[in-house]
Amino acid sequence: MARSVRTTIPTRTVREGGGFVVRRPAAMGAMMSPFLLLDEMGPVDYGPGEAVGAPSHPHRGFETVTYLLDGCMVHEDSAGNSGTLRPGDVQWMTAGRGVIHSELPHEDLLRDGGRNHGFQIWVNLPAKDKMMAPRYQDVPSASIPEVTSEDGSVWAKVIAGQCLGAEAVIDTVLPITYLHLRLQPGARLEQPLEDELNAMLYVFGGDLHVKGRRVVDGQLALLTPGDSVEVVAGDAGAELLVLAGPNLDEPIARYGPFVMNTEEEIVQAIQDYNAGRLA
Ligand code: MN
Repeated sequence: MARSVRTTIPTRTVREGGGFVVRRPAAMGAMMSPFLLLDEMGPVDYGPGEAVGAPSHPHRGFETVTYLLDGCMVHEDSAGNSGTLRPGDVQWMTAGRGVIHSELPHEDLLRDGGRNHGFQIWVNLPAKDKMMAPRYQDVPSASIPEVTSEDGSVWAKVIAGQCLGAEAVIDTVLPITYLHLRLQPGARLEQPLEDELNAMLYVFGGDLHVKGRRVVDGQLALLTPGDSVEVVAGDAGAELLVLAGPNLDEPIARYGPFVMNTEEEIVQAIQDYNAGRLA
């Protein structure tokens, strides 16, 4: 059975990190499991000297996934990993038991200004994996499969999962689907999404319909259960993310950059961070 739209959630604009602007669904909560956060960073056009990011901060208990569309970001973490993220690149960072990292604009973007646009999602880890060793996958755009439908009306970048016969290269702890889709006006895509997964669409250009229900730019649509979704683009086409993953059905204790199962584990994370034991 094809999925329909259970509810649409509008985004609100908030400031994060050193003051950069993100669009974030206004309410997500447990309905989005295993996703904890979806931030669209920008698009914003910085003047020289204006670009800001997120200076050194910790994470424990989940994964941060950054996908850049425009701009250039530099990542450094306490595990000794560093990387430069350019348009189309993905950084899939599994914080596990703990990472301290910085996410900052590249010095060229800072000096010259320019456009910054991208996404950061947080993927929860199941209780048994929350304290796993940190893992860092820095995946250049050229390694990420892109596929176009036979008639050319649908383009997909397959960050996680499968689409139009292409399979992702990034290794995920949970079985995640993460697609970036561009549909020409009126284009149609039927995407299989296994029944046991929670699934959602985030539209960030144009509009689309799912079983007659319209979803517009800046809306997150949570989908009903089903084994596929059929997306039909509106008159201006549509650009969207498709996200799906298993419902963890475990308690969530959340404090800033730490997401655990109990308050005691949060207190422990704060103590570990303050004592320099987190990283
Ligand atoms: Mn971070």
